[in-house]
Amino acid sequence: LNPIYAEMPVTVFEHMSGLARTLGAINLGQGFPDTPPPAALTAAAMRAMETRSQQYPPSMGLPELRDAVAAFYAREQGLNLTREQVVVTSGATEAIAAAILAVVGVGDEVLLFSPAYDAYAPLVRRAGGVPVFIPLAPPSWGYDEAAIRTAITPRTRALILNDPLNPTGSVASAADLALLTRIACEHDLVAICDEVWEAVRFDGRSHRSLLSEPGMAERTIKIGSAGKIFGATGWKVGWMVGDAALAAVLAKAHQFLTFTTPPMLQWAAAEGLADPAITAALHTEWSASRSVLMGGLAAAGFKVLESAATWFACIDLPASGIALDDRTFSERAVREAGIASIPLSALWEGEGGPTTIVRLCHCKPSAMLEDAVARFSAWR
Ligand code: GLN
Repeated sequence: LNPIYAEMPVTVFEHMSGLARTLGAINLGQGFPDTPPPAALTAAAMRAMETRSQQYPPSMGLPELRDAVAAFYAREQGLNLTREQVVVTSGATEAIAAAILAVVGVGDEVLLFSPAYDAYAPLVRRAGGVPVFIPLAPPSWGYDEAAIRTAITPRTRALILNDPLNPTGSVASAADLALLTRIACEHDLVAICDEVWEAVRFDGRSHRSLLSEPGMAERTIKIGSAGKIFGATGWKVGWMVGDAALAAVLAKAHQFLTFTTPPMLQWAAAEGLADPAITAALHTEWSASRSVLMGGLAAAGFKVLESAATWFACIDLPASGIALDDRTFSERAVREAGIASIPLSALWEGEGGPTTIVRLCHCKPSAMLEDAVARFSAWR
């Protein structure tokens, strides 16, 4: 068996959700809403199930969904895309895998920024590549030019950018994007941009993709997720967007992973993307629940780190008066307080890194979040 998988633990998300299920704990670990997806989307999926073909859709995705993705990005981010530039995948995780398989060859080095979503490094390694970790420092989690330049070698082939960033909820600044653009262009790197949190932004922040920076259109693979946009994480509908020549190659990686994605979910995602009222309603709901958790924790004396985007907020344990490292906290909190969380160090590879920050998911019903704050306060 390949040691990459044979020696790998199950993901921290599966581990914590498994514990939450077994122990009946409140699950603020793995990121997903507890409410059903918007009714219009569910109705669209059921309608498509009854009236549309249930056979293989085209491997690159239904043309209607690819057009809807292009139109969504024109409306939301001012991007000028055609359907030839969109490849539908079975979730963003598949898109990440396909992009890495399409880009990374044996011995190629790939720049990753820690904390990094846990799928990136194993996929780079499985493709024969070498992940090279560059730390981001709290509280701003900004990109350090000297650190990036030191990490680059003649073998550097690509960088993976997650913006907005899971687990911190931080957003790359205009200066960060300009820096990454300069470096990618100077060193002829492909940028794999995991932008699944692009629609989950708060306090009036807009999203700018690295794809729209000058010189980046031909070298950027932008990854999006209907599951995140619509709060339907189990649907596993995602996509990759890139220059048409790049997209044609990405499509070949995708065709030998899942080949295609269930058509009723593609139809529903296409309908959802076309209706700005659906995303607006979700945004209102998630802004409110975010305030409940962040405000509740702050009022109870927890130190909540700034978070501009994603379904997550992080707490700083020592600054909250808690003398545990993050992994111990998460393992004990799920058993003793009945709350699942994600230790940030589970998403950290490489030297150093914070060991006292814990991620909590806030896209949950208010009563559940209030209960969680009360349990944390009583337990701590
Ligand atoms: N993206 C989810 C999170 O950060 C996890 C997804 C998964 O478990 N595959 O919570």
